[in-house]
Amino acid sequence: MRQGLKVTPQPELSRLSTIRLGGRAIAGVLIETPDALEFVPEVLKTLGGMPVVLGHGSNILPKDGLLPLTLLRLDKNFTPEGFLSGEKLKKLDEDSRGAVFLASAALPLPVLVEKVCRAGFAGFSGLAGIPGSVGGAVAMNAGSFGADIQGTLRRVGMYVLNRGFVSLPAEKLDLGYRHFAVPELNRQAAAGNNRFIILSAEFYCPRGKSAELLLETERFMEVKRSTQPVKALSAGCVFKNPAQGPAGKLLEEAGLKGKRRGGMMFSGLHANFLVNTGRGTAAEALELIAEAREKVWLKHGAKLELEVQVWG
Ligand SMILES: Cc1cc2nc3c(=O)[nH]c(=O)nc-3n(C[C@H](O)[C@H](O)[C@H](O)COP(=O)(O)OP(=O)(O)OC[C@H]3O[C@@H](n4cnc5c(N)ncnc54)[C@H](O)[C@@H]3O)c2cc1C
Repeated sequence: MRQGLKVTPQPELSRLSTIRLGGRAIAGVLIETPDALEFVPEVLKTLGGMPVVLGHGSNILPKDGLLPLTLLRLDKNFTPEGFLSGEKLKKLDEDSRGAVFLASAALPLPVLVEKVCRAGFAGFSGLAGIPGSVGGAVAMNAGSFGADIQGTLRRVGMYVLNRGFVSLPAEKLDLGYRHFAVPELNRQAAAGNNRFIILSAEFYCPRGKSAELLLETERFMEVKRSTQPVKALSAGCVFKNPAQGPAGKLLEEAGLKGKRRGGMMFSGLHANFLVNTGRGTAAEALELIAEAREKVWLKHGAKLELEVQVWG
């Protein structure tokens, strides 16, 4: 095997997803260094399967059984080009109005939020309490409380399987509500998002006051702790909010709050969180999702679109 790549046969997705669901992938490829990326295409040819990029697994719902997928993952110590060894976040530039930060995709998002707020720069406090990696947050354009990644994102560094290293300014990205795409790559590759690995992201953050920003993140976290099942096994919100209103409210009004199938249930605290009570299966989760979509369509005429990424 190539140096800097670690291949695991048939990794268990239930251990790699926060909702603790799913069977096994064909293989997992852990990428430890930027130099190893050039070997990924040839390794994928040998392993077979559809390549999918896994961050911290907090927004995926993998199906049961043996899935035709090969997982690509950045090691937690992966250091992209432009960083010193072991460095994961740095300030690139600063003036009287704000600063430009460069973050490794492997950095946990909560660490980015905490460090940037503590340094006295704004734009991230609304992202408080969102688990996962910076790479996953960019790929999902994660957001809450009126803030999202798009609000501060300036540039993304990525490795494209059929093109190599690419750095793109935010203007060249297609960003929207929980949506991220690279139009110039989608024209070439049918599988879209899963064929590139985000390695780093550059953000412009306006100046703020450290103490106020930290207090704000704490307030947002408190709201989440009291209104969402933050400690349960879930993948966050299952559905995006449609034009008709918040998905959680529509689900509740359609009678889905607390609705159970086997080991899976829509949370009694927040109906848009599908929770694994311990022995749930992806099949049960997908049955509940189908039932919810039908009931919300019949009651509200709203078509619910998935926010969670179903794999397999
Ligand atoms: C309790 C809880 C609360 C949550 N609250 C919120 C919230 O308030 N707002 C919100 O937006 N989300 C929320 N989420 C969902 C989730 O945390 C975010 O979507 C997060 O940004 C996903 O990051 P991840 O690293 O876990 O990505 P993963 O779940 O591993 O992957 C998600 C998607 O991103 C892609 N991806 C991941 N890393 C990369 C990469 N390096 N390069 C290219 N593609 C990549 C994957 O292929 C997949 O399509 C919540 C989840 C939980 C469990």
